[in-house]
Amino acid sequence: MKLLYRRCIIALVTFSLFSLLTTPPVLAASTQTRTIAEGTKYATPMYIIKSGKPGPTVMIVGGVHGNEPAGYKAAAQVKNISIKSGTLLVIPNANKRADERGVRYISGEGDLNRAFPTSSRGIGKNLLSRDIYKTVRTYNVDWLVDLHEGYDYSTSRSNSSVGQTIIYYPSGNAYSIASKMKSVLNCLINSSYKKFQLLRYPVKGSLARSTAQYLGTKSFIVETCSKDNLSTRVDYHAKAVNRLLTCLNMK
Ligand SMILES: [Zn+2]
Repeated sequence: MKLLYRRCIIALVTFSLFSLLTTPPVLAASTQTRTIAEGTKYATPMYIIKSGKPGPTVMIVGGVHGNEPAGYKAAAQVKNISIKSGTLLVIPNANKRADERGVRYISGEGDLNRAFPTSSRGIGKNLLSRDIYKTVRTYNVDWLVDLHEGYDYSTSRSNSSVGQTIIYYPSGNAYSIASKMKSVLNCLINSSYKKFQLLRYPVKGSLARSTAQYLGTKSFIVETCSKDNLSTRVDYHAKAVNRLLTCLNMK
C-alpha cells in the first residue's frame, strides 16, 4: 500500500512538472507609465497598456500641437482603454508645455511636427523629437496614429488647411486601414463637404512621416476640423483609434 502511495505521488509530481514546462506562461494585463524626456522640462508621461497576449504594438500620440485640444483630450481617453491582444502605447501630451499654454509650439523652440528625422540616419532636431522617435524604435511600434486638428473641413475650401482628413504613408495595408477609419467617421457626418478625406504622405519632419519612412511603422495623422464643437472632434479621434484597434483584433 505504501509503495502504491509513493508511486502515485511520483506520478503526480512528474505530471505537474511536465505541465509547467509545456504550458506557455500567461502574462497578466497591466498598465505602466514611462516618462518621455525624463528629467527635463519637456518630461511627459507615456502609458503602456499590455494585454498580456501576443499582438501588434500601437502608439497613439496627442498634443504635438498645443492649440489642437481634441487630440490630447482623445488620447487621454484612449489611455484608459483595455485591449485583448498586443500592446498600446499612449502619449497624450507629446508637447506638454505647448499644450499647457494652448499654443502650436513654444516660441523659439520650433514646430515639434517638423522636428523629426528627414533622413534614414537622422535622429531629430531637438530633445523631445529625439526621445519620442527613439521610443517608437525601442518598442518596435507597428502602427502609429498622431491626432491633430485643422481649421477647415476640406482642402478644396482652404489653401493652407489639410482639412478633415486621414493622412497615411502608403505602405502595406495602410491605405486599406485608413479607408476603414474614414468610413466609420463619415457614417456620422451628413454634409458632404464635412466628410473625411484620405490624403497621402504626411509632411516631411512629422512624426508620422519619419516613423513610416525610416522605421517601417504604419503611420497616420488624423485631422479633425476645429469648426466643429470640441466633444464632436474628440469623438472622431476616439472612433478613428477604436476602428484601428478593431481592425487589428485588439478590441
Ligand atoms: Zn497639428
